[in-house]
Amino acid sequence: MSALLPGSTLGVIGGGQLARMMAFEARRMGYRVAVLAPDSAEPAVQVADEWIAGSLHDLEAAKRLAASADVVTLDTEHVPASLLATLEDLVPVRPSASVLEIVQDRCAQRRFLDSVGAPQPRCLSIDSLEELGWAVSSTGFPAVLKTRRSGYDGKGQSVIRGEDGIARAWEAVGRQPAMLEEFVEFESEVSALLARNTQGEIRFYPIAANLHREHVLRTTVAPAPIAPSVAVDANEIAARIANALDLVGMLAVEMFLVRGTTLLVNEIAPRPHNSGHFTFGGCVTSQFEQHVRAVFGLPLGDPTQPLPAAMVNLFGDLWHDGEPDWSRVLAVPEARLHLYGKREARPGRKMGHILILSEHAQDALETGEALLEQFADEEVVEPQAPKEAASPR
Ligand code: ADP
Repeated sequence: MSALLPGSTLGVIGGGQLARMMAFEARRMGYRVAVLAPDSAEPAVQVADEWIAGSLHDLEAAKRLAASADVVTLDTEHVPASLLATLEDLVPVRPSASVLEIVQDRCAQRRFLDSVGAPQPRCLSIDSLEELGWAVSSTGFPAVLKTRRSGYDGKGQSVIRGEDGIARAWEAVGRQPAMLEEFVEFESEVSALLARNTQGEIRFYPIAANLHREHVLRTTVAPAPIAPSVAVDANEIAARIANALDLVGMLAVEMFLVRGTTLLVNEIAPRPHNSGHFTFGGCVTSQFEQHVRAVFGLPLGDPTQPLPAAMVNLFGDLWHDGEPDWSRVLAVPEARLHLYGKREARPGRKMGHILILSEHAQDALETGEALLEQFADEEVVEPQAPKEAASPR
């Protein structure tokens, strides 16, 4: 396919914040944007040219989107791969159905990672409580049980700390096909972020350092405070994955960093990623523009990051007394407020983020955390470690 120039239409399946930020960038460049989502109030529909009403599983709606669009991409990987395979007969779909098939099933994803020699935590596929009982003797305690499909933000995960937690964990993940994984005592979590276009060209962003709490991303700092050789290794692993998938678009590879130098891949996302939000305002070309460029077959933009950055997520908990007083953020010149336009603020729901640029990444993070603290008076701060046998949230 030759490059599709401005005036063409980007079709996005899913109407969340990633699609919204893609839409901002695509429309700025002069593209049209059509979004398939169930509700007209969704974050991306609010800023799109066209809304196609339907769920992520609705093939007829997806066909209508394909008829409207010159290329179709995704806001989430929870779109049936079979639906995408059907669309591929009608319109270019990026990432492809075959990529989604691998990524949607944690065990298939891990087999793929193994086939490209990407280092990863030890894991086993689990289909029954009996199998789980045998498997923990191989991983030892603690171990993490994760549903094979449809997990995000730690939903469908449970940490098993001892024999008595096995049955509880199986219940907690809903007695469904799962993956058991050794618990990694990591030093930090990082993500490699790259874009790959239809010509196979790749551009890397600085490695991001991520802090999760309760399995959910809270803050990102970029560039990550890691040895340059580790950054090179992380990018090399990510490029091997992108090339083996023949991926077109953004790829985020989340990794655990153990003892300063050992990288283990946790999971991959074939789309813009929360840990890459710092690029939107922090880099010459954001991950959203880069994704748009890649899927339209354009040359990739400059990923240079002129200043260190920190990103802090804004969760629905902050709306405990109604809309937070944003003037506190807007009064800080180095802070940029991003709100996703979600109508309902629920605890744990990602409502927006703040980007802070500074000469020093640590200063940026401290500014971001101080801003959050101003809002968090009544927020319950949970401990760092994941809950034992927590119910899927
Ligand atoms: P999801 O797909 O729901 O985002 P992940 O598998 O990426 O879930 O896990 C979310 C977070 O939970 C990770 O970033 C990490 O902080 C923690 N976690 C997940 N698996 C492990 C593990 N095997 N060892 C230690 N921590 C883990």
